[in-house]
Amino acid sequence: MAKKQLNPRTTNFEFGGPIGATVLTVFLPIFTILINLQLTPSKIHSVTYYLNFCKSSHLWISYCLWFSLLAAGDLLLPGKTLNGVKLRDGKTLKYKINGISNSVLLLLILALRWKLTDGEMPELQYLYENHLHLAIISIIFSVYLSCFVYLKSFINNTLLALGGNSGNVIYDWFIGRELNPRIGSSFDIKLFCELRPGMLLWFLINLSCLHHYYVTHNRELNDSLVLINLLQALYIFDGVLNEEGLLTMIDITTDGFGFMLAFGDLTFVPFTYALQARFLSVSPIHLGKYRTSLILSLMSLGYWIFHSSNREKSQFKKGKLPHLKAIQTKRGTKLLCDSWWSVSQHINYFGDWLISLSWCLTTWFQTPLTYYYSVYFAVLLFHRQKRDEKKCSEKYGNDWIKYQERVPYKIIPYVY
Ligand code: NDP
Repeated sequence: MAKKQLNPRTTNFEFGGPIGATVLTVFLPIFTILINLQLTPSKIHSVTYYLNFCKSSHLWISYCLWFSLLAAGDLLLPGKTLNGVKLRDGKTLKYKINGISNSVLLLLILALRWKLTDGEMPELQYLYENHLHLAIISIIFSVYLSCFVYLKSFINNTLLALGGNSGNVIYDWFIGRELNPRIGSSFDIKLFCELRPGMLLWFLINLSCLHHYYVTHNRELNDSLVLINLLQALYIFDGVLNEEGLLTMIDITTDGFGFMLAFGDLTFVPFTYALQARFLSVSPIHLGKYRTSLILSLMSLGYWIFHSSNREKSQFKKGKLPHLKAIQTKRGTKLLCDSWWSVSQHINYFGDWLISLSWCLTTWFQTPLTYYYSVYFAVLLFHRQKRDEKKCSEKYGNDWIKYQERVPYKIIPYVY
């Protein structure tokens, strides 16, 4: 296929175009540093101090070791190979799915270190004490990585993201120019970053907060810290273990990989999603059985909606639930409008948002700071719904209008 036909010029800008991309590139890292500065116990230094500190080689060695070991695990540990969706050049990429073996190995190493160090776990203490420094390292690492994939996208006749080929350097670098940047034929940078270094680091940061409490409180545990660790670990490992579900998500099928995703996956997820645990490690609260039950009930409700609706759509798409009512589209596929998918167009987002609220509630009403996550997540899901609506109405035309008549609510039933 001719290069121009394969990779048409992008004319529609998102996130406010090049100016919006520049503002977000500056704002998001500053926001991440500032919000974490609020929760850095004892010595709070100036931003210049942290920037100078980042020249310390041990931080770089630790972060790069973490990234490389996970990459090695991704390449070497056993798993199955699955096909991604058919791309617009007619090709299908193969993905190695080995989240289970990677997770089991990580948990085994943690258990072994616990035994060998008699619960001291110096690695977790290092992570806790260098939290902000490592956050800054990960920001710089994301910048390097997005420059690497941007330059790489000019090599050969590679498949670009439809939204990332505007010709404006800053915008394309930010939004992601290449659709599926890979090293060799099998190491998929985007899928790897979405699931491994950031998600598993988030799990370890939470654990480091619980561990910090444990070693500083005479080897005792705190219920709010245990709860946030359990709730988020469930979500993290659910994502890592069900990685094949990601192969059909917009991030993998449509979005390019640039600074937005690199920063989101490597910095924003681990260093801001762990905010509740960070907060509780400096300001612990005893929740007791009633508040714990309330939070657990909200999480279970959200998780049930999120999980069963996503599973239902995925099974339906595989042809496993033929009895459910659906609209036959002219494109040949069907739009499900039964069961969960008759309640709202993105009932899965609603479940996901309830989960986010349950996490914030583990800090109870001590501070509005930790509720940033639910507010941010609501904005993210709203923006995602708008993007998806645009995509689907272009893709399905009149069939999408029919679908919207059958399922009028977008996310929250009877509200929006
Ligand atoms: P959806 O799972 O809602 O998928 C949207 C796509 O599914 C559409 O583009 C369309 O694709 C297809 N589709 C939509 N409605 C129907 C229908 N009724 N019948 C059949 N196909 C339909 O959204 P996402 O991929 O954005 O999200 C998946 C999950 O990931 C969600 O639960 C979300 O909450 C979660 N998520 C979590 C994030 C986090 O940071 N924690 C970030 C982003 C998402 P097509 O027809 O082209 O196949």
